[in-house]
Amino acid sequence: MADPNAKPKYTKLFINNEFVDSVSGKTFATFNPATNKEIIKVSEGDKADIDLAVVAAKKAFHRDSEWRKLSPLQSTNLMNKLCALMDRDKAFLASLETQDNGKPYAEALFDVTYSMLTLQYYAGWTDKFFGDTIPAGGFTSMTRKEPVGVVGQIIPWNYPLLMLAWKWGPALAVGCTIIMKPAEQTPLTALHMAALAKEAGFPAGVINVVNGFGPTAGAAISEHPDIAKVAFTGSVDIGRIVMQAAAKSNLKRVSLELGGKSPVVVFDDADVDFAVETTHEALFSNHGQSCCAGSRTYVHEKIYNEFVAKAAAKAKGAKVGNPFEANVQQGPQIDDEMLTKVLGYIESGQKEGAKLQAGGKRIGNVGFFVEPTVFSDVKDNMRIAQEEIFGPVQSIFKFSTLDEMIDRANNVQYGLAAGVITNDINKALKFANNVDAGSVWINCYDAVLPSTPFGGYKHSGIGRELGKDGLDNYLETKTITMKLL
Ligand code: NAD
Repeated sequence: MADPNAKPKYTKLFINNEFVDSVSGKTFATFNPATNKEIIKVSEGDKADIDLAVVAAKKAFHRDSEWRKLSPLQSTNLMNKLCALMDRDKAFLASLETQDNGKPYAEALFDVTYSMLTLQYYAGWTDKFFGDTIPAGGFTSMTRKEPVGVVGQIIPWNYPLLMLAWKWGPALAVGCTIIMKPAEQTPLTALHMAALAKEAGFPAGVINVVNGFGPTAGAAISEHPDIAKVAFTGSVDIGRIVMQAAAKSNLKRVSLELGGKSPVVVFDDADVDFAVETTHEALFSNHGQSCCAGSRTYVHEKIYNEFVAKAAAKAKGAKVGNPFEANVQQGPQIDDEMLTKVLGYIESGQKEGAKLQAGGKRIGNVGFFVEPTVFSDVKDNMRIAQEEIFGPVQSIFKFSTLDEMIDRANNVQYGLAAGVITNDINKALKFANNVDAGSVWINCYDAVLPSTPFGGYKHSGIGRELGKDGLDNYLETKTITMKLL
């Protein structure tokens, strides 16, 4: 059952299978964005704590360690046990997530389920990352796929539990050891997951969770000489910093999942009601705080006016409020900073001449709620057309032809995702084949499955998470060649 008062059980750093105070003894507060009230204080990790976590993770990765000696089936069983414990604590995890992040409870519950599915999916991979045998004349050659080692994982606040599962799943499946830094806004579910990992039986040091801030704990991960790989999800600016730190330290491997400005294109043969519904969900789900949010809605000129009227009505009808209340579709933005950023973009849209069709204002002054907002007559050069808003603001553009549409879709720095709604397979596939995007959804949106790779072209990132491709982030290839005498 949803529990708005669920009290977090763990607040310290999780290092070497123990909850410990930070070396500095410092703590910081995490807040409920629906009420602005402090939920609890958690320990604040820094470089000294990351160093301790690295020592534990290195020990756990030693060739003779308990973890390295597990059979694939034993690793599978541990991961599945973790999922079983998540299932037991599902309502509690979802309640923590809703308190800490502000997303509606039903969505938080969905995130728990999807996180379990992701871990289960990767639990099936522990004995399936094969190398090759290679024909090589007088030699016999083969490749082994080996875990890269100690990995650092830095995640954002928009899907705290899901981003954890996307990162733990492949790393654990191939035998890496982990130091995770959750976002400072949302540390609570990661700490509970750490406790569940211990309960499931993961050996000490395999999973470490260090709460803290980006420039301190986060930077200590990306700069650490003994961390072999860093996986980062967050903003483009910080992605660059992480990559630079990796290059300057030990050339650690880097994978980046960054922002987006994803187009969703609606052709004139589409069912307008279906297209309105799909594009609404594409943008407004998770309050627009999704890296792959469909934040540029392109609608064919023949159906444009009807579409805009229906999209505005849909947004006006959305229920915004307490995320623990049933039927609430949109909770608060994550914090004051994001609220200000989103309201700033709404103002810029109006100044640059886009037509406000719905919303546009903050709701109340407690919590960071924004009216679901719809702009029509948006032009490609406006700031709201080019920059990531990360909030509940839908921008609707008009277009005439497919070729024009492909060029315009690609005319941004990002390339994370794209959608197309049409009954014409030729149009759909021509668009899909030519759009700069790591994922393209035809007559659906956000259909991200544990088995389907996800990641970005251009400034949206480097590497892919999920699916078989997601394993590559955590593997090295070793070639062993024998001369036959
Ligand atoms: P952010 O980049 O500020 O923070 C993300 C994480 O990086 C946090 O854990 C933060 O503490 C850490 N961090 C901050 N400074 C750091 C530093 N100097 N060194 C190392 N780590 C540091 O982003 P945010 O505000 O938390 O999230 C919003 C952004 O993330 C949006 O732009 C969004 O598009 C992007 N995002 C992308 C995806 C994706 O899958 N591509 C998913 C979620 C969010």
